[in-house]
Amino acid sequence: MKFDYVIVGAGPAGCIMAERLSTEKKARVLIIEKRDHIGGNLYDYYNDEGILIHKYGPHFFFFFKSEVWEYLNKFTTWHYYEHKVMANVKGQLVPFPINLDTYNTLYNTNLNQVEFEKKLTEFKFTDEPKNAEEAIINQVGQYLYETFFLQYTLKQWGKHPRELHADTVKRVPVRIDRENRYQLAKYQGLPKKGYTHMMKNMISNPLISVMLNTDYKTVISDLSYKKLIYTGPLDYFYDYRFGKLEYRSLRFEEQTHNQDEYQAHAVINYPNNYDFTRITEYKKMTGQMSPKTTIHIEFPEAYTENINDPYYPILDKINTELKEKYSQLAAQEKDVIFLGRLAEYRYYAMDDVVEAALHAYSKMGSSK
Ligand SMILES: Cc1cc2nc3c(=O)[nH]c(=O)nc-3n(C[C@H](O)[C@H](O)[C@H](O)COP(=O)(O)OP(=O)(O)OC[C@H]3O[C@@H](n4cnc5c(N)ncnc54)[C@H](O)[C@@H]3O)c2cc1C
Repeated sequence: MKFDYVIVGAGPAGCIMAERLSTEKKARVLIIEKRDHIGGNLYDYYNDEGILIHKYGPHFFFFFKSEVWEYLNKFTTWHYYEHKVMANVKGQLVPFPINLDTYNTLYNTNLNQVEFEKKLTEFKFTDEPKNAEEAIINQVGQYLYETFFLQYTLKQWGKHPRELHADTVKRVPVRIDRENRYQLAKYQGLPKKGYTHMMKNMISNPLISVMLNTDYKTVISDLSYKKLIYTGPLDYFYDYRFGKLEYRSLRFEEQTHNQDEYQAHAVINYPNNYDFTRITEYKKMTGQMSPKTTIHIEFPEAYTENINDPYYPILDKINTELKEKYSQLAAQEKDVIFLGRLAEYRYYAMDDVVEAALHAYSKMGSSK
């Protein structure tokens, strides 16, 4: 069969391109996805206990751009949910990002906003921090650095903050007031029937075909198409010609408890103790009612191809230079569009990736 476009990857980037091309250009599109489901890392499903969970870690939508909000509204209604994160510090729960309450609780003080702001300026000791450790201490002082960032960075990235460039933490998010929402976006929430349902709606056009359980390299030479839209890993496209781009991965330990509630908040971070970084209780995000509850305990780990999933790009000097070499090759491809977190080797939040896909589509012009 002949296609106008082949899209590699059924994540949000791939599904949005498929929707736009089939709806606006009436193009015939094939999506090839190596996993056994659509949705990319947003994939959610009901587990054996009937609880809606996110297979690849908790996902919350923050809409800073109305363009993104209006586009997704075509495919879902919303469960309104304002995400708040608490951190467990020596058994005490305090808001994160750090705010006035976090500081007052941990220091056992009663500062007001003006006093807290002044306190923060007193921590500054250099105009040119040499590494991430100095950059953080410069903004929040030694105690808050040790409490929230030192062990957390070691767990999350497998590296000491001293080994990371100061630019990776140019601005540590600190709220001088009592604001305890994780993000301040106007619209926040989750698709009412889940991400997978939303994305199924997106690709429901009969002009779109989907091939699951297929690595695109095993079929691509047998297909007839005009253009490729590639949302898989950039280095894999070029058979790792210059070497492999590094990622950090995660492991999720799932537990279902025969009780209504496991913890007081949807997400509790564990910056210091334990090998895991956070515990998520899904019902608290989705608003689902059930006498049981499912949690994910999240353990960061090294990424190994074909063993676990690539999650976070490691944006150090070596990988940034390697990405640049691949990007130069990619820029020369006339009939391939590289799009999304793997193909661009960058951290994209969901609203960013939706916006990037809509812009990539509008740049394609009017021809089919
Ligand atoms: C743990 C975690 C939590 C997150 N939480 C949030 C959050 O709360 N809020 C937020 O805004 N963002 C969050 N994100 C970011 C969000 O996951 C990304 O914005 C989104 O997944 C990017 O979409 P994408 O289409 O670029 O990539 P993906 O969703 O990764 O989709 C790419 C698809 O390509 C497929 N593919 C790869 N190689 C091949 C191949 N060779 N052949 C065929 N198919 C292939 C993959 O299987 C995958 O399905 C989080 C990310 C992580 C890792």
